Amino acid sequence: MKIKDIEAWVLTWPPFETIFWTSINPIGSVSELLIKVTTDDGIVGIGEAHGGNLVAGVSPDFTKRVAGAAPVVTQAIRPMLLGENPLENDKLWDKMFSLTYQQGWGTHGWSRSDIMTAIAGVDIALWDIKGKAAGVSVNRLLGGFKQKVHCYVMGGYYQEGKEPYTEAHLARDAERWVKMGYNAIKIKIAHVSIEEDVKRIKALRDAIGYDIDLMLDANEGYSVQDAIRAIHAFEPFKIRWYEEPVHWYDNIEGLAKVAASTTVPLHAGEQQLHRFGCRDLIERGKVSFTSQDGRETGGVTGWVMVAAIANVNNALMAPHHDPQIHGQLVAAVPNGLTVETFPEAARDPIWSELFAVRPEIKNSYIEIPDRPGFGIEVDEKVVEKRGTKVP
Ligand SMILES: [Mg+2]
Repeated sequence: MKIKDIEAWVLTWPPFETIFWTSINPIGSVSELLIKVTTDDGIVGIGEAHGGNLVAGVSPDFTKRVAGAAPVVTQAIRPMLLGENPLENDKLWDKMFSLTYQQGWGTHGWSRSDIMTAIAGVDIALWDIKGKAAGVSVNRLLGGFKQKVHCYVMGGYYQEGKEPYTEAHLARDAERWVKMGYNAIKIKIAHVSIEEDVKRIKALRDAIGYDIDLMLDANEGYSVQDAIRAIHAFEPFKIRWYEEPVHWYDNIEGLAKVAASTTVPLHAGEQQLHRFGCRDLIERGKVSFTSQDGRETGGVTGWVMVAAIANVNNALMAPHHDPQIHGQLVAAVPNGLTVETFPEAARDPIWSELFAVRPEIKNSYIEIPDRPGFGIEVDEKVVEKRGTKVP
């Protein structure tokens, strides 16, 4: 089997009416890099990579991230992989990875994260091909540990819309997610003072009680000292995990200090470009859960390596975003814990719009499709409407 063609589309959705703030960044749109790898015997592998989600009108180019990765696929990876056997994913991954360090790698102006995002999308498409060629799901190819995966709600952003989004709104939304069947909720923190966040968390716990898992995501919003002070204030509310508490520049040794200060386990990894960074986070940063995002940096090939490192360090896999991809991976490994989902179409129109066939979520679980590859199909009408094919 040989790779005959690699195509890439940049998909963008219209700017949101509501701006969703994390601690330090506004999210005002979504975009996605869609990859199709075609083989000489007619199999088409679908890959997806994370786009940007910046704010139109505030950020000069709100699709910059996905626009950065797309030409890496068509100008560098396509000529590199044409004619190669798509089943040799480890070999092809190393070949693609060499774009980040070979002589002259910087001459195109592509950043390392552009290249890693491009690799992720192509690698996912190669695993889709591998599954389709073998007639089995990616989950079963990788180990098939279970067929159903726990999932949780990502919600509770600081929202900037027509009306103020208060603690009462947060509590009402959380009650609605519980009624939908979810038993685990993650909210954003660190955009306001610790005292104000305590009020939000209390309002939420008063509404849903203490039987629902609650996770807090600071998106690297605190100094180490503030992160320690904050988790001591939040501990009484029974927190399942404390995600990315400290600023980017001290996210290994600083994390270890926070980990030593609390019984709440830490969660991080979505900013790591590669498995080596994840190794350091787990081994030296003392995280108990890793959110390494296979569709942002490592593809399937990179993700399973991180899962193995996590396994031998007693850490669990709880990846960032995209249950249609990560569900298959979390299901496959013994230390797969949960996947992140976005039940609100206003925040994640990709999940609600892009797929003609995708898994469903019921009672906080996602049934892993037992169809070949990832078992998903994109809706070509949506690709046509939202997409631009990259030359
Ligand atoms: Mg996060």
